[in-house]
Amino acid sequence: MFKPLFTLVTFGFLCGIAAAQSVNNEAIMARKQVPILCYHQIRNWRASDRQQDKDYIMPPATFKAHMKMLADSGYHTILPDQLYDYLTKGAELPSKPILLTFDDTDGDQYHEARPELMKYGFKGVYFITTTNILKNYHYMDFKQIKQLSDEGNVIGNHTFTHSNFKKLSGKAWEIEIDKPNEKLEKITGKPVKYFAFPFGLWNSQNLPELHKRGFMAAFQLSEPRDANDPLMTIRRILDCGYWSAATLDYNIKHDFGKVGAKKPGKVIAQVK
Ligand SMILES: [Zn+2]
Repeated sequence: MFKPLFTLVTFGFLCGIAAAQSVNNEAIMARKQVPILCYHQIRNWRASDRQQDKDYIMPPATFKAHMKMLADSGYHTILPDQLYDYLTKGAELPSKPILLTFDDTDGDQYHEARPELMKYGFKGVYFITTTNILKNYHYMDFKQIKQLSDEGNVIGNHTFTHSNFKKLSGKAWEIEIDKPNEKLEKITGKPVKYFAFPFGLWNSQNLPELHKRGFMAAFQLSEPRDANDPLMTIRRILDCGYWSAATLDYNIKHDFGKVGAKKPGKVIAQVK
């Protein structure tokens, strides 16, 4: 009675290994990177906001102008499954593909970003820090997250407490990654396949923990990727609140235009 189950489980496990082994990291590194933008708060600046905070705070009018520029320039948003198939199998993407990602569960991503994305038929990825859900009125609630998922956006894991991935060990894996996965799967009714590193911080030795948990890819910020694990170190740039739409356009082309770019660093160019 147990044999078929055992055989099935073994088969599944072996398939998993085969799938993991079939990923060609060299080929992934050689493919042109798809531009990926990262957003946090979308609200007007306050007098108390420091200059460095403005990397993470985008005034709604700027966000609108940036989305309009993307649409007018012919960009098409794609989702992580498409990116995965492109990176691992060379699957075709729409012309001028771009990925929009939103971190930390901020409510204005629902109130401000969602209508703008819908205006242009864009979709995004929302990386949820689960302790922030309903923390106060600044953050999204369960219903909003479910709605984003139902509307075709992707919900990803951004840990329980916005914890530094480099410092996770022992029981923390369960608390910071496994439990949030369970929670998000319960909210959306879909598996969680993608992860974003809080603060963009990662280290190579902990990446196997993401593979172990079945993640297909993970997103950092703009450091060079790990050549031995590029799927778990996919690059993004912050679209900054003080960039003009032209600056964003310039930085997209210059940061992601290079094949296997080694040293992108932080893009600071300002274009009028
Ligand atoms: Zn974050």
